[in-house]
This record gives sequence, structure tokens and C-alpha cells, in this order.
Amino acid sequence: MLELLAMLETEVKTSSPYSQILAGKKVLISGVANKRSIAWGIAQLFYEAGAEVAFSYQGERLKDTITDLTKDMNDPLIVECDVTKDADINSAFAAVSERFDGKLDIMVHCLAFAPKETLEGGYISTQREHFALAQDISAYSLTAMARAAKPLMQAAGGGSILSLTYLGAERVVPNYNMMGIAKASLEAGIKYLAQDLGPDNIRINGISAGPVKTLAARGISDFTSMLNHHAEVSPMKRNVAVEEVAGSALFLASPLSGGVTGEILHVDCGYNIMAM
Ligand code: NAP
Repeated sequence: MLELLAMLETEVKTSSPYSQILAGKKVLISGVANKRSIAWGIAQLFYEAGAEVAFSYQGERLKDTITDLTKDMNDPLIVECDVTKDADINSAFAAVSERFDGKLDIMVHCLAFAPKETLEGGYISTQREHFALAQDISAYSLTAMARAAKPLMQAAGGGSILSLTYLGAERVVPNYNMMGIAKASLEAGIKYLAQDLGPDNIRINGISAGPVKTLAARGISDFTSMLNHHAEVSPMKRNVAVEEVAGSALFLASPLSGGVTGEILHVDCGYNIMAM
């Protein structure tokens, strides 16, 4: 019986016109920390859509987590890449190039960091070194990774790059503070990179996701109030699901969004349109 159900499930999946929309596409996903990570939601959907997925992680401790999460996938490349280190970025992309025969179709940048003391109280207290670190990891890393991905995407005849952002880049969200400034920089970077990469048929877009309970989100002071507020105020009266963020990522990564670049797509149950 269970076998029959599994067969039916496969049948439904493969009979959807978009079920293999990423077939043969080579993808690099950064930012999987655990099963709640937005990057993991995206990785699972892209894999189901036929993509060959590689993962980059920060710090040795995450290697086992990703190896464990991906045990049912087809022996993916799992490579270390602390984005504050140019040497890590170079060696990670060399490994990706080797695994994918010099080509890359899609890159998902799904990482950010700001020191805990910058995510509570007033933004005005932010210290110089904390500001620099948050900008480096959360915004500059997209530029550095896009530059490293460019020759592989040129070899593939084009590509799609995605990053994750939040409304705190556009409006003031209490406690989001330093991360809001870093996300504003990330979003401006997406537009400038779109101009640089467009002639090579490489698109780059951002998803502005509503709040999702993840490890990084837990670092924001009073995150639960943020979740509750979004659910109360948003037109859809709920929070967004990781699967919905992943679905929009699939759209932006696939040819369905062929003419879209430099865009920030809000996937937040409509919260961003509300004034009251
Ligand atoms: P997450 O699971 O904690 O993922 C954040 C990732 O960033 C982790 O894998 C973390 O690795 C990685 N990272 C931090 N510093 C790094 C570095 N120096 N080099 C490489 N990787 C580094 O949280 P998430 O919520 O899914 O975050 C993914 C993205 O979505 C972030 O850009 C976040 O701002 C964005 N976003 C999140 C929400 C939300 O509500 N959760 C909403 C909108 C946008 P370590 O664990 O080793 O530090």
C-alpha cells in the first residue's frame, strides 16, 4: 500500500508540466544550517525539479548536518565557504567548476549575519566593526560570489542568481537595525549586479521573504512578536511558509522568469502593501 502511494506521488509530481523544469541545471546553494533553513527548503524543491545541487557551508560543524540532510540526494558536492575569506570563495568555486564541468546555471545566496548586539535596542549604538562585519557577510558576499560564478555561468550560456532579503531594508522594523542597513545594501547591490551581468544573459533577483522561524531569525530580539504582528496585519492573515518562498525561488531560477532581473519579489503574504 505504502509503495502504491509513493508511486502515485511520483506520478503526480512527474505529470506536472513544471516538475522537471530544472532538469540538468547545475545549482550552488549556500546557507543551509539545518532543516529549518530557507536554503534547505529551496534545495529540496530544486532537487525535486531535476536540478543537480551542490552546497557550500561555513565551518566544519555544518558539514555533517548537510551530509545527513542530503543522504537521499545523488552524492552532492558539499564544500566549505566562509564568505569572509576570499580564499574560501576561490576554492569553493574551483570545486564547483570541477564537479560541474566548468558550468553553473543557478546560484542561491541564502546567508546573512550581524552581531547579536546590533539586533536589539537602538540602531544608533552600532559599532564600526559590527557594521563592517554585517555588511561584509550579508551584502558584499553576494558581489564576491556573483563575480566567482560569472565565468561558470558564461560557460553555461547564462544563469540565474538569487538572494534573500527582508522588508527591514525598505522600512524600519524594530530590532532588525543593522541587518536592515545590510539588506538595503544587498538590494542595491542586486540592481547594480543586474546591470553588470545582464549582457551575459545572467539574471539576479532577490526574494523579500516574510519572517520565518530559523536559526538566524532567532538572533533578532523579540522575533516572536514580529511573527505575530506579520500574521495579524498581512492581507492573508498568516505567515509565509518556507515552501512558498522556495516556490518563488523556483520561478526566479527557471526560464519562467526569463525577462526578470534586478527585481525584489515580496513573498510575505502581502504584508508589505499594508499601511495600517
Ligand atoms: P539560517 O538557517 O540560520 O541560515 C543562515 C545561514 O547563513 C547559515 O547557514 C549561516 O551559517 C550562514 N552564514 C553566516 N555567516 C556566514 C559566513 N561568514 N559564511 C558563510 N555562511 C554564513 O537562517 P535563514 O533565515 O534561513 O537565513 C537565510 C537568508 O534568508 C538570510 O539572508 C536571511 O537574512 C534571509 N531572510 C530570512 C528571513 C527569516 O525570517 N528567517 C526573512 C527574510 C530573509 P552558520 O550557521 O554557520 O552561521
